[in-house]
Amino acid sequence: MSCSSSSGSEEEEEGVDSYRKGGYHAVRVGDSFNGGRYITQRKLGWGQFSTVWLAYDTRSASYVALKIQKSAPQFAQAALHEIEVLSAIAEGDPSTSKCVVRLVDQFKHTGPNGQHLCMVLEFLGDSLLRLTKYKRYKGLELNKVREICKCILIGLDYLHRELGIIHTDLKPENILLVSTIDPAKDPIRSGRAPILEKPKGYPNGGVTMNFIEKKLKRRARRAVVGISERRASVGGIGGNPMVERCLNGIDMRCKVVDFGNACWADKQFTEEIQTRQYRAPEVILRSGYSFSVDMWSFACIAFELATGEMMFTPKCGQGFDEDEDHLALMMELLGKMPRKIAIGGAQSKDYFDRHGDLKRIRRLKYCPLDRFLVDKFKFSDTDAREFAEFLTPLLDFAPEKRPTAQQCLQHPWLNTRNLIQEEVKSESSLGKVEVGMSKLQIKVGK
Ligand code: ATP
Ligand code: MG
Repeated sequence: MSCSSSSGSEEEEEGVDSYRKGGYHAVRVGDSFNGGRYITQRKLGWGQFSTVWLAYDTRSASYVALKIQKSAPQFAQAALHEIEVLSAIAEGDPSTSKCVVRLVDQFKHTGPNGQHLCMVLEFLGDSLLRLTKYKRYKGLELNKVREICKCILIGLDYLHRELGIIHTDLKPENILLVSTIDPAKDPIRSGRAPILEKPKGYPNGGVTMNFIEKKLKRRARRAVVGISERRASVGGIGGNPMVERCLNGIDMRCKVVDFGNACWADKQFTEEIQTRQYRAPEVILRSGYSFSVDMWSFACIAFELATGEMMFTPKCGQGFDEDEDHLALMMELLGKMPRKIAIGGAQSKDYFDRHGDLKRIRRLKYCPLDRFLVDKFKFSDTDAREFAEFLTPLLDFAPEKRPTAQQCLQHPWLNTRNLIQEEVKSESSLGKVEVGMSKLQIKVGK
């Protein structure tokens, strides 16, 4: 188990080099698994440990996500751990109402690269990272953010309070919507029949061939995007990046996934947890951690959903490293870290002097969260104040003071509705559709 630094599933492909002994299993559309029960339809994503495929379950006549782990012992070990956690999750939530992914089945599959542990999970849709990209990093309407936050909190409350599990790698890639953004990508809504056999004429080149094909396809796609962007810049309509994308009609319910790094609060394996940008201060300082590390990451995710930008993107600079920059960014937004906390961790001496001041980054530019939301993201004063009131307690430097998921679910911000914003948004998108239509007519008439 390791602390994942970045899930590659949003970036290019998983890399052909990892398809070797101990690595990924090469899968093609129409391959069958577990004695013919599951048939692969298309690849959904990949991570450092696995590739994940949409598969058709011939026994239940439904679609599932098939996670096929790399085969080397350390990956098998990690899969066994993930299965243990997922089994506990499934056992405690028979009605699957707790906003956490459900494990349906598990089995082993032997292929040319070794024996792979496979997990069959309920099929879910796009990640919150894809949703943010779909919104062109402009941020979601606050009402949508509230809906998503409620689901994540229900999931966290279940994991923390009922099971004693800390996720430890909460980030937008690891929260999936219950259905796809594009209905054509949904095997049921698209109305397509499942693939039950290998498509004819499929080359034996397998994965390598697939890569070459994909590369060519990607290039072609980029060329098309280039053309449509150039068109848009001279007033055309194709793929105009200025037109705001509306989320109406997309189901905002979501579930927490990827339990490869999860642990029981009383059985922790490593001090090095969480993906950089979502990492809590006590993890950097090595002061010990508990459920509240997930609450910190949750606040970072909520901010990112609402603004389209990560809350903290630390970088190393002249004379200081990423960790110190991260601590500096936290303090600029949240105020000075109390001395006792700053100097209380096993790593504190690397970053703080005995007064509780950073050693190498001396001049901090403080800007409270509500001001930051107004100045940088053009929030109204009220929206900024209310949202900051929701987030700030979750970002308390004292982990034990952060509200629990259960307490957070009671916060009034989750139950306020932003009517004005909704009206303005729907009016403005209507306006944009009309403008688009008029341009379309002109174009068609040409
Ligand atoms: P990591 O490197 O993040 O630890 P991993 O190998 O453990 O990755 P996951 O994060 O569980 O794998 O899954 C990889 C990707 O597969 C996800 O980002 C997502 O795109 C897709 N995916 C995973 N589970 C599902 C699911 N149940 N339904 C649909 N897609 C899924
Ligand atoms: Mg992941």
